[in-house]
Amino acid sequence: MHLARFPRVRLAHLPTPLERLDRLTEALGGPDIWIKRDDCTGLSTGGNKTRKLEFLMAEALDQGADIVVTQGATQSNHARQTAAFAARLGMDCHILLEDRTGSNDPNYNHNGNVFLDHLHGATTERCAGGLDMAAELDRSAQSFLANGRKPYAIPGGGSNATGALGYVGAAQELMQQADEQGLVIDHLVHATGSAGTQAGLVVGLKGINARVPVLGIGVRAPKPKQEENVFKLACATAEKLGLPGLVERDDIVADTSYVGGGYGIATPAMVEAIEMFARLEGILLDPVYSGKGAAGLIDLIRQGHFKRGETVVFLHTGGSAGLFGYTGIFDFGAQSAEAA
Ligand SMILES: *Cc1c(COP(=O)(O)O)cnc(C)c1O
Repeated sequence: MHLARFPRVRLAHLPTPLERLDRLTEALGGPDIWIKRDDCTGLSTGGNKTRKLEFLMAEALDQGADIVVTQGATQSNHARQTAAFAARLGMDCHILLEDRTGSNDPNYNHNGNVFLDHLHGATTERCAGGLDMAAELDRSAQSFLANGRKPYAIPGGGSNATGALGYVGAAQELMQQADEQGLVIDHLVHATGSAGTQAGLVVGLKGINARVPVLGIGVRAPKPKQEENVFKLACATAEKLGLPGLVERDDIVADTSYVGGGYGIATPAMVEAIEMFARLEGILLDPVYSGKGAAGLIDLIRQGHFKRGETVVFLHTGGSAGLFGYTGIFDFGAQSAEAA
C-alpha cells in the first residue's frame, strides 16, 4: 500500500495524540485504556471525517468542482467538517439534513453542528426522516449541474473507498505510534456508523499485518447489516489499493447492542459514558457516536470481555459540537446553586 499515490489535501493536524487514560483505567479496574485523539484533527472542533475529506476534497479539486454537496442527520459531524473544509478551500457547500430523530428541541435543530454549518457559510436544506438520502443527494447535485455549477457529491459520512483511505492512513499512523512507544495493542474500539472508519482501519491494519482486531460499536443499523456495510466498503477500499481479497468477512465485527431507541436517541449508558470521560479525563465525547461507543467499551470492560493485562485503544472519533444540540439530556441539578 502506498497512500501517496492518491491525491490528498493535507489539512488535518496529524498525527493525533495517543494517550493513556489513567483515571478511567483505574475507575474501571480492567484493561489499560488508551485513547487515539481523532477528536483533535484540527478543523472546526475536529473529528474523524477530516481524514476522509483530505482524500475526497482532493478529488473534488481535481474535478474542478466549485461546490460540494453532502448529506447527514441534523446534528451531522460530517456535514460540519465538510462545511469547514469547503470554507478553507474557498468552495461553496450545500448540505441536506435528514430529520432522523423527530426531535423538536430548538437546540437540536439549530445549535451545535447546525450552528457551525451556517457559521462556515454552508447552505442547508431539511429533509424528512426516512427519505432515500442517496437519491436526494443525487437530485441536489443534478440541480446544481443544471444551473451551471460544478458540484462534487460526497456520500453520507464521507464513506466510500476514497474517504476510507483516510482511515487506512490512520491505522498506519496508530501502529507507528504504538511501535515507537513500545505499546502492544490488543483491541481497537470505536463507534461505527456509515462504515468508512472501520473499513479503512481494517484494511490499513491488515495491509501491514498488525493483527489488531477492530470492534465497531454500532449507532444505527442492526449487526448483520452494519457488518455487511463495513465488509463491502472494506473490500472496495482494498481493491482501490490493489489488494483484492485482503479482507475476510470474519475481520469485520460490530456490536450493535448499545444503539438503544435508535440513531441519535439518548440512552442512560451513553450519558454515563460522556460524564465519566468528562469528569475522569477532561475529554468531551458526543451523544450520537463516541458516547455510545464509549458506553459499549465501558460495558464490555465491566462484563470482563476486555480484561486486566490487556491494552484497549479507544478511537475518539470526535463530535463534541453535538453536545450543544443535546444539553437537555443532562441533569446537573444540585451542581448549580444560585446566590440568594
Ligand atoms: C461519523 C462519525 C462516526 C462514525 O464513523 P463512520 O465512518 O461513519 O462509521 C463516529 N463518531 C463520530 C463522532 C462521527 O461523527
